Amino acid sequence: MNTKISIFECLSRPIETKVKKSMSMKAYRKLLRRQESKRKYANRIPKKYKVYIKSKWWEKRKNLYFQSHEKKCAICSSSEHIQLHHMVYKNYGNEKDEHLVPLCREHHNLFHSQTGTHTNMVKDTNDFIIETSEIESFPKV
Ligand SMILES: [Zn+2]
Ligand SMILES: [Zn+2]
Repeated sequence: MNTKISIFECLSRPIETKVKKSMSMKAYRKLLRRQESKRKYANRIPKKYKVYIKSKWWEKRKNLYFQSHEKKCAICSSSEHIQLHHMVYKNYGNEKDEHLVPLCREHHNLFHSQTGTHTNMVKDTNDFIIETSEIESFPKV
C-alpha cells in the first residue's frame, strides 16, 4: 500500500522530473531568478520620463488629477487637446497636484519652446501662465 502511494506521488510530479532531467539545478534557479526580476520590473514605475509618460502609471495619475480638477487649459480655458504639464520632473506616479497643470496642446508647446525643459519649472510655469494670459487678454486690433 505504501509503495503504491509513493509511485503515485512520483507520477504526479512530471514537471519536477522534467526540469531535473533537462536542466541543472543551477540553471533552474537562474531561470526562477530571471522570472522574478521580470515580474518586479513590470511593477516598477519607470524612472525615465519618456517611458513613464506612456505608461499605465501616468495614465492612472492623470485620471486621479482630473477627478478633482477641471480639464481646462490654465491660460485659455479651452477643453480641447488638454495635456497635463509637469512643473517638476520627479516623484513619477506620486506627483503633487500643485506640480501639475493642465494646458491645451498649443500653450503646452509654446511653453516648452520658450522655456525648454528643466527639472524644476514651478516659477517658469507660473510666470508663463500669468504673462501669456495677460498678453492674450488684450483686445486684438
Ligand atoms: Zn490654452
Ligand atoms: Zn510640459
